[in-house]
Amino acid sequence: MNTIILGAGISGLTTAIFLKLNGFSVSVYERSKSINTLGAGVVCWPNAMFVLKKLGLHKKIEKLGSVLTAMHRYNNKNELLGVIDINTINLQMNEPSVAILRKDLINILYEKASSLNIQFHFNYNVKSINDDTDLMLANVLFENGQSKTADLILGCDGRMNSQARKYVNSENTAVYSGFSNWIGIANLDENIDATTVQDFWGVGKRFGIVPISKNQCYWAAGLVEKNIKKQTSNSQSVNQKQTLFEMLLSFPDIVQTVINHSDENSIKKIFVYDHNPIDIWFKRNVLLMGDSAHAALPTSGQGACQALEDAWVLSELIINKTSKQNLSDIFQSFTEKRLKKTTGIIQSGRYLAQSIFNDDPVYCKQRNEQAKQTDYNKLAIGMANAWQLN
Ligand SMILES: Cc1cc2nc3c(=O)[nH]c(=O)nc-3n(C[C@H](O)[C@H](O)[C@H](O)COP(=O)(O)OP(=O)(O)OC[C@H]3O[C@@H](n4cnc5c(N)ncnc54)[C@H](O)[C@@H]3O)c2cc1C
Repeated sequence: MNTIILGAGISGLTTAIFLKLNGFSVSVYERSKSINTLGAGVVCWPNAMFVLKKLGLHKKIEKLGSVLTAMHRYNNKNELLGVIDINTINLQMNEPSVAILRKDLINILYEKASSLNIQFHFNYNVKSINDDTDLMLANVLFENGQSKTADLILGCDGRMNSQARKYVNSENTAVYSGFSNWIGIANLDENIDATTVQDFWGVGKRFGIVPISKNQCYWAAGLVEKNIKKQTSNSQSVNQKQTLFEMLLSFPDIVQTVINHSDENSIKKIFVYDHNPIDIWFKRNVLLMGDSAHAALPTSGQGACQALEDAWVLSELIINKTSKQNLSDIFQSFTEKRLKKTTGIIQSGRYLAQSIFNDDPVYCKQRNEQAKQTDYNKLAIGMANAWQLN
């Protein structure tokens, strides 16, 4: 089947590989001028590692990343609030959890796709998608004036301005979360525990440190920001570290050390959005996948993992397609298989964000006391059950 994939991010690349391996002719259209490796890192939880294993990429991921076994949660005075035993999640789900830099994950997927001779077209920014004169098809119009159609069009064009989502669902407005995230990558002089995530909760602020190796980590500093301030090109680059030091003055020394050892160019500030869940994911021959279908907040920890799952689920449906099923049946089954889980993940991301990014000191004190009373074994098993592939 002739397939066009819009967007060469995590869902686009992974889906392209699965479909090509199953004999499809695949072309990927990406707005950037080359593969987009921007971003700090992601945790490939066991559900993501399961999908990557299906592509034979798990060893490469483990080699460049770090297998995680625990997450330590602290308040901003370095007092331990609790420990999530990631090993319990790994054992429940039969795969490891691996932290990796986003650029490494994307490059591994891109190398695999290139080795399969998948066609990439960069500088192809989707302007709109419209009904074709053929009643079954849609037509993709690019900014460069070209237009394309295919048997199958997969909208993997992300969360912020997905033209595929606009075509399928008439709207694509992302919902602002009320917080911003600074992200970065640090190369440290001293050794850190390469298996343990450190998560510091303050009042309206959070700092998370995810190890990639004994002396490298990526990090995210979240901050309540009720109003979005327009960024100028200078505001991204001027005194970022100083701003972070001041913002996180009350946090433990490790936070200052990590910021201090970060490459300025790796530091980015992002205003964080998700989407309200929608239950229609396809129209004609266009299917939404990844963030364009179900963007969740980073507090869900599952955005990239769900994009990977989408790719695997779609390919399984296509491989096992019966002669009676047409494209709409496959799309309908895909939506039914994925909607409930991804909606739950959007909701859990919002629930955690409301608590972590609360700027009421009284609430935060109570929240931290509750965190000390949490049954972390139950929490780890609950996470494994929610993320399990089925
Ligand atoms: C701050 C932050 C931190 C995150 N941390 C994590 C984490 O730790 N773990 C995790 O699992 N997930 C995390 N996520 C979520 C994760 O990055 C996304 O959920 C994941 O990348 C979704 O994959 P995707 O393929 O749908 O979209 P993307 O990977 O964003 O890819 C979309 C692609 O489409 C392209 N595109 C967009 N518009 C057009 C257009 N008009 N024409 C052509 N191409 C277009 C883009 O350039 C991009 O290459 C985080 C997200 C944010 C915002």
